[in-house]
Amino acid sequence: TTRIVLASRPKGEPTPENFRTETAEIGPVDNGDVLLQTLYLSLDPYMRGRMNDAKSYADPVEIGQPMVGGTVSRVVESAHPNLAEGDIVLGYGGWQTYSIEPGKSLVGLDGFPAPLPAALGVLGMPGFTAYAGLLTIGQPKPAETVVVAAATGPVGSAVGQIAKIKGARAVGIAGGEKKVEALRELGFDAAIDHRAPDFDEQLAAATPDGIDVYFENVGGKVWEAVLARMNEFGRVPVCGLVSGYNATSLPEGPNRVPQLMGLVLQRSLTLRGFIQREFVDQLPQFRAEMGKWVADGQVKYHEDVVDGLDSAVPAFIGMLRGDNFGKVVVKVAD
Ligand code: NDP
Repeated sequence: TTRIVLASRPKGEPTPENFRTETAEIGPVDNGDVLLQTLYLSLDPYMRGRMNDAKSYADPVEIGQPMVGGTVSRVVESAHPNLAEGDIVLGYGGWQTYSIEPGKSLVGLDGFPAPLPAALGVLGMPGFTAYAGLLTIGQPKPAETVVVAAATGPVGSAVGQIAKIKGARAVGIAGGEKKVEALRELGFDAAIDHRAPDFDEQLAAATPDGIDVYFENVGGKVWEAVLARMNEFGRVPVCGLVSGYNATSLPEGPNRVPQLMGLVLQRSLTLRGFIQREFVDQLPQFRAEMGKWVADGQVKYHEDVVDGLDSAVPAFIGMLRGDNFGKVVVKVAD
C-alpha cells in the first residue's frame, strides 16, 4: 500500500514536512478481516488534534504511523462471511491506498442513496454531527434564531438547513464573499463574512432578535461576538473550535472567563460540548431522515473533491485555513 504517515508533530500550522509518503507491505488478511482498496478518503478538522502528542477523546497518531481517517473502499479480498469481493463499504482505512480492517467494523453501502463521497459528508459523520448536536442540544424552535459558522462546510451547512426545516431562522457565518453567496443559495436567511472589518455590526444586523442557538464550530472572535448577542435560555452545542486548532498558546489579553461565566449565569445559557459518537443510537434515524431530506433537495451540500492521495496533504493544510469549499474528500481510486 502507498500511505501517508505522520513524520513529525507540527508546531502551529502543519507543513508538508510533517507528513511522509511511503510504500509498505500489507497483510495477511486474518479470519474476519477484509482487504480494502480506498476509493475516497475523508479529510476532517479533528485530524489536526490527532497530530499532537496529547491525550484527547481519542489517542494521537504515533510518529511513523499512517494518518487516520474515514474511507469509502472496495473489498478486494474477504475473510468475513458477510462481505464479498467488489462490495463497497464505509470504514476507517486512513490515508492509504489499501487497508485491512475487521469486517465487523464496516458499514455496507449497497443501495446508498447518493454519490459515494456523500457517505463521508452530508450523509456521514459530519452530517450526523450536525443532526444530533443541533436537534439534541440546540433544540431549535420555530421562529428562533440559529447561528452557525464554518457554514459552507459539511457540519455547518447541514446545521443551517436542518434549522430551517425545523422552522427556525438560520444565520450562516463564513469566510469570503464566494462562501457568503453560497450560503444564500443554500437558503440561509442571512449570511455574513467573519473576515469583514465590520463583522460585529453585520452580525447585529443579521440577528435583530438576538441569538437562541449558536452551534459552535469555530471559537475565537466569532464566539465572542455571538456570546454578546445570546438570548436568555440560549443553547450552545459546542462542536468544534477550529480557529484554535493550530494555536500554540492562549490568546493575548485579559482573562475573560469571569465575563463569560457572568453571561452564562445572567442569561441562563446552556453550553454543552459533545463528540458525535455519544449519539450513536440516533444513527438509524439520521440515515432515514437525512437521506430523505437530501433526496428531496431540502438539504443541499457542497463537496470539494481533490484527486489522488498526494493531494491529501495540501488539501488538509488548506482546510484548516478555510481554503476548502464544502466537504473535503480525496478521490484515491476509481
Ligand atoms: P469545514 O469543512 O467547515 O472546515 C473548517 C472550516 O473552518 C474552514 O473551511 C473555515 O471556513 C473555518 N475556519 C477556519 N478557521 C477559522 C477561523 N479562524 N474563524 C472562523 N472560521 C474558521 O469543517 P467541518 O464541517 O468538517 O467541521 C466543522 C467543525 O465541526 C470543526 O470545528 C470540527 O472540528 C467540528 N466537528 C466536531 C465533531 C464532534 O463530534 N464534536 C465531529 C465533526 C466535526 P470559512 O472559510 O468559512 O471560515
